[in-house]
Amino acid sequence: MEVLLGFGGGNKFVGILLIIFIRYVLLASIAFALFYWIKRKAWAFRKIQLKFPTLSDYQREFAYSVITTVIFAALGYLFFFGPLAPYTLVYRDIHEHSITYFFVSVGLTLLVHDKYFYWTHRLMHHPRLFPYFHKVHHLSTNPSPWAAMAFHPLEAVVEFGILAIVPFLFPIHPLAIALFLLIMMAYNVYGHLGYELYPRGFSKSMVGKWINTSVNHNQHHQYFKGNYGLYFLWWDRWMGTLRPDYDEAFEDAKTRRAAVT
Ligand SMILES: [Zn+2]
Ligand SMILES: [Zn+2]
Repeated sequence: MEVLLGFGGGNKFVGILLIIFIRYVLLASIAFALFYWIKRKAWAFRKIQLKFPTLSDYQREFAYSVITTVIFAALGYLFFFGPLAPYTLVYRDIHEHSITYFFVSVGLTLLVHDKYFYWTHRLMHHPRLFPYFHKVHHLSTNPSPWAAMAFHPLEAVVEFGILAIVPFLFPIHPLAIALFLLIMMAYNVYGHLGYELYPRGFSKSMVGKWINTSVNHNQHHQYFKGNYGLYFLWWDRWMGTLRPDYDEAFEDAKTRRAAVT
């Protein structure tokens, strides 16, 4: 990333923009090509919601994701290369802290992000805020991988917020931020995939009951109420916002059989 961004001001903005955009397009298009095109017919019975979104759904999700990319790049430039950069705890010499700390900082960022996402998500579901911030994301009642960054510009600013907090909380290396963002994007594509990748029985298992799944987030898009989490389910479980029909929906998605023809 440092190499890619090793040029002057305006070009750094373009560099960040390209990294965010390519990461999104690459992950979403791989998922889309496999599940919505190559294996569309063969795996259709496994789809969480059995119908497929329309072309205009994909176009809307993509268009809003492009707008989000521009907003993320502008704010990213402001915080990491612009006037706010000197005030962050970002360290550029990787040897300044141990390699163990490098990975701890990534894990810590995921935990902070999970909490940040849950509470801002619930806030944006308040009826007074929902139409201005979060409605655009919920236009996808049957989301596709392209919905991973489909936010209203105001919600995009809220979603960037995690990167406006973490660099002021603890030291973090740019590569740790890049790794966190890669995990975040991969999990977002999985969350909006429309197919469940975890195995049967996962939602009720010792570990799985605390991990968010594609079925869980798909239910959030379908019903709007409950299942507000991102990577983990502890906030939903602690706050009583996990949908009571979640385990049933998970098992339904994993136990369907292809129609014999
Ligand atoms: Zn929501
Ligand atoms: Zn979503």
